[in-house]
Amino acid sequence: MENINLKVLSFSKNSQKIINGTEISENLKLQVKNEILSLKNKINRSPKLVVILVGENPASKVYVGNKQKTSLEIGIQSEIIKLDENTNQNELINIIKKLNVDANVDGILVQLPLPKQICELEILKTINPLKDVDCFHPENVGLMLIGKPRFLPCTPAGIIEMLKQKNITLEGKNVVVIGRSNIVGKPLALLLLQNNATVTICHSKTKNLEKLTQKADILIVAIGKANFLTKDMIKKNSIIIDVGINRIDNKLYGDVNFKDVFEKASFITPVPGGVGKMTIIMLMKNTVSAYKIHNKII
Ligand code: NAD
Repeated sequence: MENINLKVLSFSKNSQKIINGTEISENLKLQVKNEILSLKNKINRSPKLVVILVGENPASKVYVGNKQKTSLEIGIQSEIIKLDENTNQNELINIIKKLNVDANVDGILVQLPLPKQICELEILKTINPLKDVDCFHPENVGLMLIGKPRFLPCTPAGIIEMLKQKNITLEGKNVVVIGRSNIVGKPLALLLLQNNATVTICHSKTKNLEKLTQKADILIVAIGKANFLTKDMIKKNSIIIDVGINRIDNKLYGDVNFKDVFEKASFITPVPGGVGKMTIIMLMKNTVSAYKIHNKII
């Protein structure tokens, strides 16, 4: 009997360690859904998000499908524009320009990566910054840099929100981010800094990576290498956030070796069911912000 109780106790203690992105995002979904309902009374139409998908990248198709599903669940109109793999840059630019001035469209998102004949930056620069719900337009990146954000980048904002929901404070913490992409690593480091963390950014050219990761109170991994982070690389009781999504034989793996790291960490995010879920709900929040901006509701 005693053994069983001990097992139950250790199971519940262990499950409390997991920062459950599914659960947190479901609560946020309800909040956003209610906000949309009350805004609709004033605006007389629902927010609308248009997602453009170029080509047949299987992972992109899944992401776009998930974005549409969540949009519809919470009352956001969703349109997916599917374009051929061989679409040229001007064709895509012309489609975006039409959406930029369409009064019924609040948010525009071009799913990345794009086929190689299309310059990503040219496309991101074409999106109306007021409808740039991914927060990738240079104007929005600049506003974020100076601490006056119009939108927040979805994955980094989702991570900060997850930590907040678990009452994990950032002020004065040593936070190490592995990865320096424009989508995750760099904007995340900036948001952490704005939350008064002491931030170290590591990347593929960082020397003695383990020396830095072992000092982290909070360690965030965004590199795209399955099971890269192991327990010898972390400090006892540190908080581990796994951004990685790696598909191997149709199964998803994070950048963290979850089983290996679990015991030593104080909190950890799973893959799937972690950061990915938060990214989508933050996109929904940005779409509502764009809808408010568009309809001059501050
Ligand atoms: P990326 O693929 O553009 O770049 C990888 C980064 O990792 C680079 O900055 C590189 O310097 C660094 N890196 C690579 N190998 C390293 C090593 N051995 N040591 C230290 N640093 C190394 O990055 P990205 O677009 O940010 O994607 C990273 C991962 O996050 C991918 O698995 C991607 O699928 C995933 N991702 C998940 C979400 C989500 O919502 N969960 C969102 C975006 C990206």
